[in-house]
Amino acid sequence: MNDKIGILHLEDSINDSEIINAIIESAKIEYNYFLADCEKDFLNFLETENIHLILSDYSLPDYDGNEALRVAREKYPHIPFIFVSGKIDDGTAIEKLLNGATDYVFKNNLERLVPAIKRALNDYELEIKRKQVEISLQEKKEIIKAQSGKYIEINKELDFQNEEKEKRAAELIIANNELLFQNEEKEKRAAELNIANKELAFQNREKEKRADELIIANKELLFQNEEKENRAAELIIANKELAYQNVEKEKRADELSIARDKAEESDRLKSAFLANMSHEIRTPMNGILGFAEMLKEPELTGELQQEYIGIIQKSGARMMNIISDIMSISKIESGHMGISLSEVNINEQMTELYTFFKPEAEQKGLEICLKNNMESKETIVKTDRDKVYAILTNLIKNAIKFTDKGSIEFGYICRDKACDDRDKACLVSTTTIEFYVKDTGIGIDPEKIETIFERFRQGNETLNKKYEGAGLGLSISKAFVEMLGGKIWIKRDPVHLDFGNNRDGTGTTICFTIPYNC
Ligand code: ADP
Repeated sequence: MNDKIGILHLEDSINDSEIINAIIESAKIEYNYFLADCEKDFLNFLETENIHLILSDYSLPDYDGNEALRVAREKYPHIPFIFVSGKIDDGTAIEKLLNGATDYVFKNNLERLVPAIKRALNDYELEIKRKQVEISLQEKKEIIKAQSGKYIEINKELDFQNEEKEKRAAELIIANNELLFQNEEKEKRAAELNIANKELAFQNREKEKRADELIIANKELLFQNEEKENRAAELIIANKELAYQNVEKEKRADELSIARDKAEESDRLKSAFLANMSHEIRTPMNGILGFAEMLKEPELTGELQQEYIGIIQKSGARMMNIISDIMSISKIESGHMGISLSEVNINEQMTELYTFFKPEAEQKGLEICLKNNMESKETIVKTDRDKVYAILTNLIKNAIKFTDKGSIEFGYICRDKACDDRDKACLVSTTTIEFYVKDTGIGIDPEKIETIFERFRQGNETLNKKYEGAGLGLSISKAFVEMLGGKIWIKRDPVHLDFGNNRDGTGTTICFTIPYNC
């Protein structure tokens, strides 16, 4: 023991305690000495101090050694308890020892005290060690017990885990084989991929080269595109300019085409006119010259002479007509045709024309009628007598010429705003006299109605035509009508006269107006 030994001494005698203390001191024992002379101090030291040995007197005035032993054995069984007393016999001492006291030393034999103390302390120390060993063993046992239970559990767990591991190992072996197989495949694939990769790397390098080339080419193209866009913008402008010019050219071409058509038509008409004129002049001239020559025949009968003279007169009249038409158209064209106004009685003029043409019409087997629907005194108009006469003559002559069957009707109607029911194309706003000449002849081709009034224009402009004429009558008539302040037109509707089917074709109605001042 390294610490000082704690010795509790229960003793009521100061003298005895000093002697005993001195004896213990002489034994060279390191110790602390605690002296108690009553139960209270005894119990107090036991509780508060580190006591290794109890020395006790057997009998005390107010406490008992037996009671102290009982309390010590009950609460501190390991602390050695030695009675140091003088008043006890051997039988009692043995009994006390049996009750648990460690030893018994008589006060009259104190030389036993130190050996008894040493032995008790030695035993105490051994006991303490034994107890410590015992506790240690017990703890180890418990630890081992606890650990073995744990180990069993762990073992079971390990067994289970081992089984699982074995299963898993089997599976892993299979999986491993599979993986090995897959690895082989992968290695093969990797080898293939490696080759493919190299190939791709090569291709990539090529592509990169190509990409670089393309970038350069792209830049070039961008530049070219910009140039092209600029060029395109310029071209768009130029195109617009050209389109504008084209439109202008087309307009101009259309105008030129129309002008050319007109010029060509005019040339053609002039050629036709000249050829026709040559024919129209030669025919009567041949008649005149031929029959004049034949008149020289001395043996010619009077009857034949009259017939030849008649032919010469007729041819002369025809020549006169042609020359007169040529003169008129020349004057009209040169602007030298004037008008001479006078009071003209329309009724009288119409009757005169009727009388003049009746024989010619009847000779051809045609009916001719005049419809005067106004009183003669009302039909006096201030106009150019000769021109009105010439117009009507042309129209009636044509009617007879172009009609082989049926009839001719001519007349006039006085029109003003209140009774205006005529063809819309000829609406007039002032009071007019509207003349008309109808026939049941061959009619005029509707397509030519608009152009038939142009000079040299004929229904049939070929040489071997059936009807004679220079193609000037209608254009002279139109010029005269317009000079007189009127209009002339051909009615589009077929002619309806009460002649049944006695007609050549659709027939013709030509109308014209002159101003009328009542
Ligand atoms: P011409 O009678 O000398 O040929 P016109 O100028 O008088 O010349 O007439 C022009 C053309 O109009 C004629 O050639 C003819 O084809 C047509 N025409 C005129 N009047 C009639 C009519 N009453 N019926 C049919 N055709 C007509």
